[in-house]
Amino acid sequence: MHRFFVDPANIRNEEVLLEGDDFKHLKLVLRLRPQDTIHVFDGSGTEYVATISSINESNALAKIQSLYKSDTEPKVRVTLFQGVPKGDKMDLIIQKTTELGVYRIVPVITDRTVVKINEKDKAKKTTRWSKIAKEAAKQCQRAYVPEIFQPVNFGEISEYIRDFDASVLLYENESKKCLKEVLKCYTINKIEDISIIVGPEGGFTDQEIESYRKWGGYDTAGLGRRILRTETASIAALSIILYELGEMTYG
Ligand code: SAH
Repeated sequence: MHRFFVDPANIRNEEVLLEGDDFKHLKLVLRLRPQDTIHVFDGSGTEYVATISSINESNALAKIQSLYKSDTEPKVRVTLFQGVPKGDKMDLIIQKTTELGVYRIVPVITDRTVVKINEKDKAKKTTRWSKIAKEAAKQCQRAYVPEIFQPVNFGEISEYIRDFDASVLLYENESKKCLKEVLKCYTINKIEDISIIVGPEGGFTDQEIESYRKWGGYDTAGLGRRILRTETASIAALSIILYELGEMTYG
């Protein structure tokens, strides 16, 4: 089945308007025709089955036949606060964590973030990263596209994590508590919104760890005796959380 993500504004009066790249893909690559059936997602979890009614030079219209809530979304919402790494590693992190089921990604500029991101870059990068999330969501059959925030500074995380049921900072020098143990408490207390915080390739500074601990009540956790690259740490942590909270099943 051919899947398209469309802006909710393009779904009106039981009709879907397809334009831009999706329209080109539909017409020139897939060569779809009136009467063909497509699946449409509005990016927020609703899925529509629609039949193409017309195709012209610049857009296509499809008539909605039925709609349903997607069942590919995890019940637990995991927000990843990701220390921005060098090069194109962020692309990989966004793609893979989207496939796994991340809810939201907040790029974080930390003391050891190497790339310099000015205000203009922030918007540009966010647009690019959002596109990667959208493509990954489409490919893996999610009906929800993870929101990618504009990069924030490490200190700003404190304001965001207040709203979460739980927060875990992944720390390679945490030798006492591993993620598995921290999650044991979460499976007992019902957790719906959880944040994970992962450093860039250079890790967090002692001052950052100290500030995080001062924000109070939040966990730090280790992923075992080996030091992982930042992209491995994020992908592994998300997989562990979703697995431990029962989200890697068909239940
Ligand atoms: N500062 C370290 C490596 C940092 S790894 C060094 O250069 O030796 C980058 C990030 O991945 C860390 O900030 C942490 O969030 C995560 N990470 C990597 N290995 C980890 C582990 N074993 N346990 C917990 N977090 C880990």
